[in-house]
Amino acid sequence: MMTETSLAALRDRLAPSERMPLVFLGHGSPMNAIEDTAYSRAWTELGRALPRPAAILVVSAHWMTRGTTLVDVSAMPKTIHDFYGFPEALYAQQYPAKGDPALARQVVSLLASHHAAEDDTWGLDHGAWSVLKFLYPEADLPVFQVSVDMGRGLAHQLEIGRLLSELRDRGVLILGSGNVVHNLRAMRPGGRPQDFALEFDQLFAERLEARDFASLADREGLGSLLQMAHPSVDHYLPALTVAGASDGRDTLSFMTDAIDLGSVSMRSFVFHA
Ligand code: ZN
Repeated sequence: MMTETSLAALRDRLAPSERMPLVFLGHGSPMNAIEDTAYSRAWTELGRALPRPAAILVVSAHWMTRGTTLVDVSAMPKTIHDFYGFPEALYAQQYPAKGDPALARQVVSLLASHHAAEDDTWGLDHGAWSVLKFLYPEADLPVFQVSVDMGRGLAHQLEIGRLLSELRDRGVLILGSGNVVHNLRAMRPGGRPQDFALEFDQLFAERLEARDFASLADREGLGSLLQMAHPSVDHYLPALTVAGASDGRDTLSFMTDAIDLGSVSMRSFVFHA
């Protein structure tokens, strides 16, 4: 059984390091951006515990491309309100961080063999800003997004992570934002967790702990359980990017491992020194 690492324990274990930790956050409902929840409080506390990065590279579930990995090279990424039917207060949110065009272009080069290209039309979607506003409320660090390629399979996303990992030694925080389980059709608002959600969440945590990333990217091996947990893999891919960027030197800690709304895992994790 996995146990949840308390944030206090994680803070103590985040030793000062030249190498940036890796973070994956389950972002869940956009409402977490404007409500005081256990999740938003955990994000605030994590932001205080993390070393201050030179820049933040966000892989968000909400920027989906097919056959290419796009990197946002804009100088001032706009805040995107990519959801419908939510309260006005959510549409009023802004996260006015600067981009990092020079670094973003280096990322395009780093991923050149993996169908990467520049983009200056995206910005920051809610997968990015809904958690960044708690991690770094001053919006005073450069941020840019990298898309998830929906057309090349799960192992490709591990490989993208592996290629990005060298940025950690340059002070770049790689932040994945998605959900370990994400099936909106199976939601039970206020209800108890679906069995498949608990099962996939547990399997994911155990295999991540065992560093068995290949099996987490094996669509056939995961079979119908993956289909249930992720009818579409957009929210899963950022977790694989983060896993792919880790190596044997990292310690893994989990946080906020609840199942929300019956079928959305809020499990988050940090690879750190
Ligand atoms: Zn989402």
